[in-house]
Amino acid sequence: MINVQEIFGSMVFNDAVMRQKLPKETYKLLRRTIDEGTELDISAANIIANAMKDWAIEKGATHFTHWFQPMTGITAEKHDSFITPIDDGAVIMEFSGKELIKGEPDASSFPSGGLRATFEARGYTAWDPTSYAFIKDDTLCIPTAFCSYGGEALDKKTPLLRSMEAVSRQAVRVLKLFGTNTAKVISTVGPEQEYFLVDKKLYEQRRDLVITGRTLFGAKPPKGQELDDHYFGTIKPRVKAFMADLNEELWKLGIFAKTEHNEAAPAQHELAPIFTTTNLATDHNQLTMEIMKKVASRHGLVCLLHEKPFAGVNGSGKHNNWSLSTKEGVNLLEPGDTPRDNAQFLTFLAAVIAAVDDHQDLLRVSVASAGNDHRLGGYEAPPAIISMFLGDELTEILASVVYDTDYDQQKKAVMEIGVDVLPKFPKDTTDRNRTSPFAFTGNKFEFRSLGSSNSVSGPNITLNTIVADELSVIADKLEAAVAAGEDFNKAVSAVIKETINAHKRIIYNGDGYSKEWLDEAARRGLLNLRTTPDALPYFTSESNLAMYERHGVFSKTEMFSRNEIHYECYCKVVNIDALTMIDMVNKDIIPAVMKYIHVVSETAAAAGSLGVDISVERELAAKLSDKLTGLYGALKTLEASNAKCREIDEYSEQAFFIRDDMIPAMNAVRGYVDELEVMVGKEYWCFPTYSELLYSI
Ligand code: ADP
Ligand code: MG
Repeated sequence: MINVQEIFGSMVFNDAVMRQKLPKETYKLLRRTIDEGTELDISAANIIANAMKDWAIEKGATHFTHWFQPMTGITAEKHDSFITPIDDGAVIMEFSGKELIKGEPDASSFPSGGLRATFEARGYTAWDPTSYAFIKDDTLCIPTAFCSYGGEALDKKTPLLRSMEAVSRQAVRVLKLFGTNTAKVISTVGPEQEYFLVDKKLYEQRRDLVITGRTLFGAKPPKGQELDDHYFGTIKPRVKAFMADLNEELWKLGIFAKTEHNEAAPAQHELAPIFTTTNLATDHNQLTMEIMKKVASRHGLVCLLHEKPFAGVNGSGKHNNWSLSTKEGVNLLEPGDTPRDNAQFLTFLAAVIAAVDDHQDLLRVSVASAGNDHRLGGYEAPPAIISMFLGDELTEILASVVYDTDYDQQKKAVMEIGVDVLPKFPKDTTDRNRTSPFAFTGNKFEFRSLGSSNSVSGPNITLNTIVADELSVIADKLEAAVAAGEDFNKAVSAVIKETINAHKRIIYNGDGYSKEWLDEAARRGLLNLRTTPDALPYFTSESNLAMYERHGVFSKTEMFSRNEIHYECYCKVVNIDALTMIDMVNKDIIPAVMKYIHVVSETAAAAGSLGVDISVERELAAKLSDKLTGLYGALKTLEASNAKCREIDEYSEQAFFIRDDMIPAMNAVRGYVDELEVMVGKEYWCFPTYSELLYSI
């Protein structure tokens, strides 16, 4: 039995450890740096580095690394040992404040989206003291931001920290008007992570899984998820053992792993941590994904984080639960107990509604990837259309605010902002709609469109910034009203009415999977950006460039470079898929089918020589040969399409060619292969089938 309290955070240089290991003065200085962002002088940094090193060595560490999140979407680390030679050929273990604060990894092999052309190739990593250092694989990991020498962000952490500051700045302004004085507002996130587990031996027999993380072929198994017998089902022993091991690893790293259960598809599971500050939640989610893979391997399993490992069964997503709270921990999206609290709640709610409506495009872009294109709009995940679910109760209240209508049929009550107290909405009544991309769930919003492998950084940079932008508009209006001596309640009421009225088209409480919604959304003028290439051009629109710049989150150059990386990544992923497909068809599938045709023909010849009926062999051989001819033709089309695609220089152009030409060609190849799989004898087929992969554990 493990003692959870004892191991929790045991590998983290957290506040308790800092307090214990640092001189009082240094601890105070560091705390100020963490809380207020003050600069740390080098002598304090030296003391902290030394204490970190001693603590890490005690725990068995030999190396340190600046741990960062380049635009690849995964984390990066370059290990250095603590050793420093001394005169007599021996070594001492050293770690300086300079090494803690700044590192200089060679930036040239990380995606920079053209920034390298204009700026220096070198980049540097800078310590993020708001995320605690931790030990992983005998290495002291220092969470860092990664920038170019020109100061441009080359990573996913820098803009996230900037966006947290942006939303804090504007939220503090609004709160001040309501008489809530706080120094800082913090955005909080709890990401629910879905994943698949498959047997490692079977996985290794499938090059598509090994290379692309998903199956490129595979006929639908006789049993998929139609019986709904996996969701919340009993967890199998091998999976249970994996989960126990995973929890232990995560707890040691101070990650609040909390909820685990089976998901809708066979072999699919979910892990949810308790929410925390967005910055930490992001770091923790990156670590969680990495450790899931590592622990799975120890159990003879492979953890698949691809958005769509298997066609025909649900893919994996990530639910990004998001809210804002004051530094003191008061959740700003929690309807309050007093009229003043409620007016404040409705103001923040109005800001989020306006933000989602005004920036549907940016939210959509933030979840766009080749992998997620297989899920969104596929009746298993929210549609590509961004809308918002508020639940009937809250929607009625908003209607009452805007139109002065009764919100409570029984009591015939009209909601008056700043005077009335909102009824409490039980969480249950608001949390039932699973088809909405963006749902209010009682005291937070749940952004459900993320793909499972998505870093949560992008979606939260977006959320924080767009909400900051709307809050700043509201703050401007209210500050002006106050300066003009207007009645505050009246001013708030007017601003909320005006905002809701202008943006109510984004609210939709119905079935997001339905055909009616597609039509209705079009009527409302909402965007339906079905694929990644459809979405990406919106990122760099004039108004989006201006907004990100206004809040100091991205410069224009950073935005263009990021968009370039997005396009590049999309094109590369699909090209790898296509090349793997071509390779498997040539090397495995065609030979397997030919072999089987040969067996069938030989059987026919042998049986024929006895004069028995060979109509079955004849028909089977003819059908197989027919499909094989079809497959070969489709393969040639795909090969030609792929060759043409790679001749297109600009990724932004390539992406559209991929969408319109190469993906349809890939689908055609798959169609033939899946038909052939069903016809070819088991022992002749070249890799494990869906049934084997999904039901082997
Ligand atoms: P479900 O969405 O499955 O009903 P929960 O209500 O348990 O699940 O919440 C899911 C996630 O939302 C958890 O990670 C939880 O910690 C997180 N969460 C709860 N409150 C907040 C908040 N104020 N800010 C951000 N995330 C939150
Ligand atoms: Mg949820």
